[in-house]
Amino acid sequence: MKNNLVVTREMFFDQVKSYITEPDSLAMIEKAYEYAEDKHKDQKRKSGEPYFVHLMNVGYILATLHAGPQTITAGLLHDTMEDCDVPKEELVREFDQDVANLVEGVTKIGRLAFADDKEYEAANHRKIFIAMAKDVRVIIIKLVDRLHNMRTLEYTSPESQVRKASETLAVYCPIAHRLGFGDIKNEMEDLCFYYLDPQHYHEVASLVEAKKREREAKVNHMIEEITELLNEHNFEFRIFGRSKHLYSIYKKMTTKNKRFDEIFDLYAIRVVTRTELNCYEILGYIHAKYRPMPGRLKDYIAMPKVNMYQSIHTTIMDNEGNIFEVQIRTEEMDSVAEQGIAAHWSYKEGRLYNSEKEQKEIENKLSWYHDMISMMDEADLDHNEMLNTIQKDIFEANIYVMTPKGRVIELPNGATPLDFAYRIHTEVGHNAIGSIVNGALVPLNTKLQTGDVVQIKTSKQATGPSEDWLKIVKTSHAKNKIKSYLQKVEEEKRKEIIVKGEKILADELKKRSLEEKSYMDRATLEKVAGQFNFKDYQDLMYAIGMKSVSMVQIMEKLTNQKRSALESFDLSRLFNIKNRPKPAGRTGLQVEGIDNMKISIAGCCMPVYGDDIVGYITKGQGVKVHRSDCPNIRGQNSRLIRVHWEEDDTTKQYDCWIKVEASDRSYLISDIVTVVAQYKAQLMGINSEVLPDKVNVTVDVKVRVSNTEQLRLLMSNIRKLDSVVDVSRIIK
Ligand code: MN
Repeated sequence: MKNNLVVTREMFFDQVKSYITEPDSLAMIEKAYEYAEDKHKDQKRKSGEPYFVHLMNVGYILATLHAGPQTITAGLLHDTMEDCDVPKEELVREFDQDVANLVEGVTKIGRLAFADDKEYEAANHRKIFIAMAKDVRVIIIKLVDRLHNMRTLEYTSPESQVRKASETLAVYCPIAHRLGFGDIKNEMEDLCFYYLDPQHYHEVASLVEAKKREREAKVNHMIEEITELLNEHNFEFRIFGRSKHLYSIYKKMTTKNKRFDEIFDLYAIRVVTRTELNCYEILGYIHAKYRPMPGRLKDYIAMPKVNMYQSIHTTIMDNEGNIFEVQIRTEEMDSVAEQGIAAHWSYKEGRLYNSEKEQKEIENKLSWYHDMISMMDEADLDHNEMLNTIQKDIFEANIYVMTPKGRVIELPNGATPLDFAYRIHTEVGHNAIGSIVNGALVPLNTKLQTGDVVQIKTSKQATGPSEDWLKIVKTSHAKNKIKSYLQKVEEEKRKEIIVKGEKILADELKKRSLEEKSYMDRATLEKVAGQFNFKDYQDLMYAIGMKSVSMVQIMEKLTNQKRSALESFDLSRLFNIKNRPKPAGRTGLQVEGIDNMKISIAGCCMPVYGDDIVGYITKGQGVKVHRSDCPNIRGQNSRLIRVHWEEDDTTKQYDCWIKVEASDRSYLISDIVTVVAQYKAQLMGINSEVLPDKVNVTVDVKVRVSNTEQLRLLMSNIRKLDSVVDVSRIIK
């Protein structure tokens, strides 16, 4: 099993020169060779060899795959950034941007800590791996790097062997398979098998060994017969026997529950010829001579596998009952099967490598996306749907960033360090004050990119989440955490404001010499709250605490609720006067017990039909009617007199001023006017004033209404307008 090939400098350059001849390209590879040897000169591998041996091997294997000069150069340099702290700029300077990008790509992938991270399934790892690589050459360098590490795994600790092997089996082998690197995949699988399950490995290996001679004899005999047959018909072809690799035998034994001899007795022969037509012709001659096993003919030429594999497979039986699987394919199909996409991107001189173009070409040829689909999910989902999903999922929707320890965090495209912080821990999010991305301090709203290493700075003194943060984060996870934090803060604030509101109301009652105990009655206040369209007592108190509702109005309603209000004005002296309603002229008012008195509406509080009112006996001007909570008559109890609205006079109208407080915006005035018109009030005047803060505006509106109900509707609908903070009646 062991590949004990010792690569020398001479072998490496011979291999390179077998297909690269351009002097510039060769010079770059030579320079990288010396450069890497020098940079790593003080480092040794676990085996005791110079570290450079690993790099030379990686370069050599890449050269056997006919990789381009940049890829080989990057292969030689692939550990310089990580192990020798060579900055990317130096690689750009010494080599070129393309090489530097490749080395950086390999370095980033190398930092992924797959095996230590139980959160992520292997499928995710493969997805991440490919999303991070972007350039298919990075994946190939990484696969070759891993292959060589697996070949030399014996020098590391048993724990490390198991960890590396399981990671290789879960992440690297499927990628190698899907990219069509059959050789690399088979070799890595057998190495993994060896380290992960040594007992079964040795069992299978010794069974293979024991049958080897017998098997070889049978295969060679069949090869002779077929060669004779095909020579008779003048085909150009190569034919050879091949053995299955150990891990695939073992897998078939376990997953298909077959005995070793059932699998191993299936001898395999391959015929490689010139043209597609030759393949079908050869198939015909073989089927004519040997009995084909029913249902075992597979035409992957007409229907290639997703990884571009093409071949005809058939299973035949000889006269002695031995069963052979015969594969028939062209030379080109054979190289694709062995080297996968390497066969397509293998370097051709005189052609500039364009990674984007190359990637595109490979994607087209390889049905790249289809590949990933099967990597992600073997489930039978609609292909187009999956295609879209994967494109969004891998190439658009998600980015993969890392913690300084290499843990991969998957985030949606556009995510910021703040999303990252909340993904790490809610508290890290709440206390975030800044972030360090790839070593540089950046603001929390920076857009993260795949491969970024992200660190969050936190502080116990952090001001914590704010409304602005909701605009910064992209994930709903972070959004929800911020929202619930803000809600909690809001609730606490609200409680404070409610307490404040209660105190303001109590103070106001005291100021008006109203008895706190009877007015602070919960049931009454609930009713008042309802009249203002507030949900409940708390909402009312909150509005009072926020001063978003006028105290005058509150008191008005409160006194309405408590009919006993007038008593507290000390009008007891008038109580004995008999209530004999009489028309009271044009005001629609009457003074209790007094007829024909000159009576008029006070200009300060401008009561409207339905308001709680009280008369004020002036000197020589008769009775002025005020709202009972008008501050201008406060403390004038001796001159107050009880008055009533005339119940049946609905035709009369009353003027009154209301004040609208709002933050300024376009069309505010016209919206107010519209509401006034909607409620069939007459607009008698309007003044607006922008406050010194230049943000807020007050609009005084004089309206003519029939009663308090109309006024209340009008006001509560103005209050509903956008940007309006408060609407109240004015007392001048
Ligand atoms: Mn390496």
